[in-house]
Amino acid sequence: MKIDRCDKGFDPESVQLIGILAEGATPELVCLEPLTGKMLEHCRRTVINENFKAKAASTLKIPVNHESIKYVVLHGLGDKKEGLQENIREGSFIISRTAASKKCSSVYLSMPETGERVSSRSAAEGAVLGCYSFDKYLTQEEGEKLISPDTFYIANADPKGLTEGEILGEAQCYTRDIANEPGNIVTPEVLAEKAASLAKDLGLKCEIWDEVRILKEKMGAYYAVSKGSANCPRFIVLTWSPKGECKGHIAFVGKGLTFDSGGLDIKPADYMTTMKGDKSGACAVLGAIKAVAQLELPWKVTAIIAAAENMPGGNAYRPDDILRARNGKTIEVNNTDAEGRLTLADALSFASELKPDKILDIATLTGACAVALGTNTGGLFTNNNTFGEEVLRAAEITGERFWKLPIDDQVLMKTIKSPVADLVNSGGRYGGAITAAMFLEAFVAKDIPWVHLDIAAADFIKEERSYYAKGASGFGMRTLATLIMSM
Ligand SMILES: [Zn+2]
Repeated sequence: MKIDRCDKGFDPESVQLIGILAEGATPELVCLEPLTGKMLEHCRRTVINENFKAKAASTLKIPVNHESIKYVVLHGLGDKKEGLQENIREGSFIISRTAASKKCSSVYLSMPETGERVSSRSAAEGAVLGCYSFDKYLTQEEGEKLISPDTFYIANADPKGLTEGEILGEAQCYTRDIANEPGNIVTPEVLAEKAASLAKDLGLKCEIWDEVRILKEKMGAYYAVSKGSANCPRFIVLTWSPKGECKGHIAFVGKGLTFDSGGLDIKPADYMTTMKGDKSGACAVLGAIKAVAQLELPWKVTAIIAAAENMPGGNAYRPDDILRARNGKTIEVNNTDAEGRLTLADALSFASELKPDKILDIATLTGACAVALGTNTGGLFTNNNTFGEEVLRAAEITGERFWKLPIDDQVLMKTIKSPVADLVNSGGRYGGAITAAMFLEAFVAKDIPWVHLDIAAADFIKEERSYYAKGASGFGMRTLATLIMSM
């Protein structure tokens, strides 16, 4: 799909679907620009009959009788600034999705605001996400398939905003595509191959370590997690270095469990499905560095993934085992299903050694975070409130919800102490998302501003909503890229 700015109105000979994002008004006053003549009359009558007031997130699809144009789709933006970007994104998504399901090859979208970069970005993101589906393993009849429109024209848009939105939307689809792949297809080795091919396409530096090197590099916590699986681990490091100005260096660390059975502390069956998504943090990090490189942003970005599969087996790590992490700290294992933080411990130690200006990790880390915040909000934890605020502001632009949780509770801190090692890997049920974050903090250099994002449950969509199709959401990826755009 090609997204383009178009200011001279639509071409009635070629456009097949007209979308209008309209501000709230009485049905008589709902903006129906750029319609004229009979089509305007027909649509005005429908708007009045349906009492459509363009309230926020309301949609009206009007079939029209015209040689080329099949539908006019109205989406209301309401009359508040609050939530406007998310509304634009959702409206553009619905318009694009309708076009894709009705096989309309050319779309024209009209927006009320003119030239605003962030609105144009939101509209382009929605347009790209509207055509997303993960259907490669489905045997479908031709008629059932979504077909992206060839062209999606947006009136009076800011061209920079459109390019940004297109790149961010495509990066989110890329993130979803990898996260949706099951554990029998994307193993740690395959994830590394995908990262290497991304690096090749974008001219990124790429380093991949196998299990021998991982052990040699003293990543004892991460290596232990991988031992029970026949699929060997891969440590992945991609680096984007801007050609011109460079404002600083940030390390993105993504949890990359290509499948998590729980290990010897095996999960009950109901909790094990969707665990192909335990690599969503890694996928978000890959999507983010893709967008950063395509936008040629002036920050050096290192993407770090300690990819592994957590399985039971004769060689699996056990409860009671004591592991030594890369930074020398010892960890007593009291739950082999709290494996993500063990892989992240060594990845965060490695990231700290690079001495970046900031470190951000993103992980489907704890069920406790989902219990606390639900399935549509990620947890944010930080050792530096200024950096935490920066991430929250970036998230707000993207419509991805994050909520800050504390990591300074000394009573909770005691639950991750061990009598025989420096730490235990699980602090138990109470405050589980917080104690996991506290555990990670022990592996981040004290002087580096660090943010940890827990996206458990937000990574996977059970019931389709807004621009989220069922399956992997790609949640958090746009926050990471938008953070770099705003720093
Ligand atoms: Zn687990």
